[in-house]
Amino acid sequence: MKDRLPAPLVSLLHEAGELAEQHRVRVYAVGGFVRDLLLGVTNLDVDLVVEGNGIAFARTFARKRQARVTVHERFGTAVVTLEDGFKFDVATARTESYDSPAALPTVKQGSIKEDLARRDFTINTLAISLNAPRFGEVVDDDGGRRDLQNKSIRVLHPLSFIEDPTRVFRAVRFEQRLGFRLDAETATLMKEEATRDAIQRLSPARLSKEMILVLSERQPRTVLARLADFDLLRCIHPELKWSPELARLLKDVEETLTWHDRLARDRLIRQWVVYHLALMDSLPTPAVQETLSRFTFPRGQTRRTLWVTQEGPRLLRTLNQRTTPSEVFRLLRDLPDETLLFFMAKIQSESEQQKISTLFTPESATPVLKGNDLKAMGLKPGPVYQRVLDRLLDARLDGEVTTEADEREFVARLRSSASSADLS
Ligand code: ATP
Repeated sequence: MKDRLPAPLVSLLHEAGELAEQHRVRVYAVGGFVRDLLLGVTNLDVDLVVEGNGIAFARTFARKRQARVTVHERFGTAVVTLEDGFKFDVATARTESYDSPAALPTVKQGSIKEDLARRDFTINTLAISLNAPRFGEVVDDDGGRRDLQNKSIRVLHPLSFIEDPTRVFRAVRFEQRLGFRLDAETATLMKEEATRDAIQRLSPARLSKEMILVLSERQPRTVLARLADFDLLRCIHPELKWSPELARLLKDVEETLTWHDRLARDRLIRQWVVYHLALMDSLPTPAVQETLSRFTFPRGQTRRTLWVTQEGPRLLRTLNQRTTPSEVFRLLRDLPDETLLFFMAKIQSESEQQKISTLFTPESATPVLKGNDLKAMGLKPGPVYQRVLDRLLDARLDGEVTTEADEREFVARLRSSASSADLS
């Protein structure tokens, strides 16, 4: 741990272990954090599980460290936020039983063994003991380390997918993200689950959450291709099929997002929205409407997606005609970044892509001269300023002016030209 984790995090884990020892409970780091630690992959999403009262432990820890704690009594969980903003989750070890397939489980307090036994795949069942005398010991009751070594995604028991059908999406996400492979029996169970109704009956909220997670992976294209192997794209819509065109578009989205990440890293976008627009692009409008009515996406997103489906083709046709950069700018400037990125991916011509890209570099779309400069040049203040600045912006976007001197000359010309009538 010392070699792979930042020192303050190692101290925090030690501290948690010491506190657990004082209060006679056992505390473990679990889940994705442990999996990734053993794989040497950076993951600072710390999940702790307490054999005993997890909420009381989180409160005591928070008091000691002057941290904030948010409690979810119903789930026996808490989030501790340290002064520097670092957060970690604390849960009470529990057992779960499922009353009916695809329903949410009934939960009771339990041992760490029971807690790990209710998890999805062996690679996610590993825990690290934090109590002082056993600090750093790995708990591995289900062959998690062997499967990490074999790069294998394996369920813990044959009913796993029936118990929770969302695991089919999780299985494929982990497989593609880690470069692992579903083990043969798990793949067979998954094929069986894929043909069952339960997966279609997942609540809209759960299905939407899984889809957003799939589309937020580093390479959703490979996850979607793998879902298609299991005929699971039909969970999004029965008419959604894998095709070379869809694969191409998803690859183009990938490249556009890489470009965006390099250029405009500080403009936060929701990657999943861009991929979702790409998926909806291959469906006819009624199918998009059906999909959107089944999913529960964040407020406003459904309306925006429908707008792109209905207006996108016309806009793209306009963009594909010989449009000047300033026309493109004015046509698109009120659209969300995600829509622009989808258009960039969808448009094949590099010069058109470049015109859209200007919308991500405001500095290249702002005239140097401001109102004060126009005043100093002797223009009478009034609505005319906006018109001059608009013309300047167009000229800059279309490459007619590049320097301040160019802009001054442009304004002077504007004033003396015949068209100056509409500037006065
Ligand atoms: P990620 O890197 O995607 O966050 P993670 O493994 O941390 O991976 P989470 O969704 O945060 O994933 O879940 C944390 C842990 O909870 C998992 O490692 C797994 O042990 C358990 N878990 C999550 N979802 C399920 C599920 N549907 N069924 C069983 N166990 C689950």
